[in-house]
Amino acid sequence: MKRNRKIVVLSHCIINCNSKVEGLSVYEGALDFTKKLIDNGFGIIQLPCPELLNFGLKRWGNSKEQFNNLIYKERCKELLKPYIVQFDLYKNSGYEINSIIAIDGSPSCGYNKTCSSSIFSNKICEYPNSIIKREKISLINEKGVFIEVLCEMLKEFNLDIKILGLDESDLENSSKKILNYILK
Ligand code: SF4
Repeated sequence: MKRNRKIVVLSHCIINCNSKVEGLSVYEGALDFTKKLIDNGFGIIQLPCPELLNFGLKRWGNSKEQFNNLIYKERCKELLKPYIVQFDLYKNSGYEINSIIAIDGSPSCGYNKTCSSSIFSNKICEYPNSIIKREKISLINEKGVFIEVLCEMLKEFNLDIKILGLDESDLENSSKKILNYILK
């Protein structure tokens, strides 16, 4: 039996950048560090993309404040339940879930940072260059809503799994750091 019982959990868009808000991807399809995980014998679990499944492909970029409500949190919980079940099954059967890789800066999937803005009103036409003027958006040291819900569920079900945030504004260094952690 050849399996080596090592698993990494990736945010959806790491293996499929097509789920991102149009114009935001810094790579073409799947991030190439995924190849290194495969070469090193890891199995990969791909989390669902909560924004794609709630708002579709033709969505705007949002801030955490727009998602920080019970409707979205409940939806995140529903999406995450089958994954919590899988994590529990693997961990209780001698498998290693090495880590979960989040996407820093995302209002949903950020771990170390998420994007914040107090501007979420008025009409689209009042913001000709973007829905929220860039200067009104800031990165804050908080988790995105999906990862916040994930952390609560991991705690509730006693699942101790390391989470790391991929910083796409410094993709090369951030990918290296994450790989160093996973392959150590
Ligand atoms: S919501 Fe998460 S998985 Fe979906 S595109 Fe944004 S960062 Fe990636």
